[in-house]
Amino acid sequence: MIPAQFDYEVPNTLDEAIALLARDPDGSKVLAGGHSLIPAMKLRLAQPQMLVDIARIKSLSYIREEGDKILIGATTTHYELESSELLQRICPLLPECAANIGDVQVRNKGTIGGSLAHSDPAGDWPAAAIALGADLVVVGISGERVIKADDFFVDLLTTALQPGEILREIRIAKPAGSFGQAYEKVRHPASGFAVVGVAVNLAMAANGSCQTANIGITGVATKAYRAGGAESALAGRRLDEPVIAGAASQVCDGVELNSDLYASGEYRCHLAQVHTRRAIRTAIERAK
Ligand SMILES: Cc1cc2nc3c(=O)[nH]c(=O)nc-3n(C[C@H](O)[C@H](O)[C@H](O)COP(=O)(O)OP(=O)(O)OC[C@H]3O[C@@H](n4cnc5c(N)ncnc54)[C@H](O)[C@@H]3O)c2cc1C
Repeated sequence: MIPAQFDYEVPNTLDEAIALLARDPDGSKVLAGGHSLIPAMKLRLAQPQMLVDIARIKSLSYIREEGDKILIGATTTHYELESSELLQRICPLLPECAANIGDVQVRNKGTIGGSLAHSDPAGDWPAAAIALGADLVVVGISGERVIKADDFFVDLLTTALQPGEILREIRIAKPAGSFGQAYEKVRHPASGFAVVGVAVNLAMAANGSCQTANIGITGVATKAYRAGGAESALAGRRLDEPVIAGAASQVCDGVELNSDLYASGEYRCHLAQVHTRRAIRTAIERAK
């Protein structure tokens, strides 16, 4: 299908983009990689009056280390994250998650900010952002605020972003000491989206037990979520098979399961449990 008619603006700076959005916050949409928004517009699920294309704002695309933080600009593409040697070294969950997204074309154009802002229930980045405890820096006409990843994903395709706001930066605490991370995914055979995706981020104590566990799950519910019960079952414990299995069995607790033609809720939950076990084992292996 052909999208409904819209105006198109290409600002050169973030301030220009914010000013353009402020003219009509409810009728405007930010365009980044376009790999979710353009299909939605073609299906007329989205009919913005104006698109504000932020893809050419150079100051929004970067990956850098600053003190004990990793800073990522919102328009950094999946490919740039996948191929970052810095991230391979200091936070390998990010490149691993990126490498699992769609295909080469999608990874070349799609952005981490677009993916987080879209909050697709089958998107990969939300699970990683939760497991890494990311802070999301958003900016609008009335200033800047920081939203925890845990509070950012509100519902199906709905985030804590207000009309007129732009996600500017993703901030992640640099993993320190002995840590292990892993992303496990069951890909939909047609789209590549996550039927289930599990991001695990473990900090290990000197005695080999688990100090803290952070687990983000995508694909199972209407939005990505933190598997809090499973995390508590791992923290402070020596991670042997019964402990891992016990934790993984809790990843769907209290969650309303998503069902569709491809996978029932029960099947998604089963996959989430199996892949949480695998991801925990891989993370332990990598922490050694
Ligand atoms: C064939 C195909 C396969 C795919 N497979 C996967 C997959 O396996 N895993 C996966 O996770 N994703 C997948 N995707 C989606 C892809 O990752 C998109 O790139 C991503 O979801 C959206 O990023 P974008 O930069 O393209 O955003 P856009 O499509 O430009 O925008 C998406 C939404 O976010 C808003 N937005 C964008 N950037 C910002 C910002 N900085 N601040 C505020 N709002 C913003 C837009 O207004 C829009 O509502 C796939 C897409 C396609 C077409």
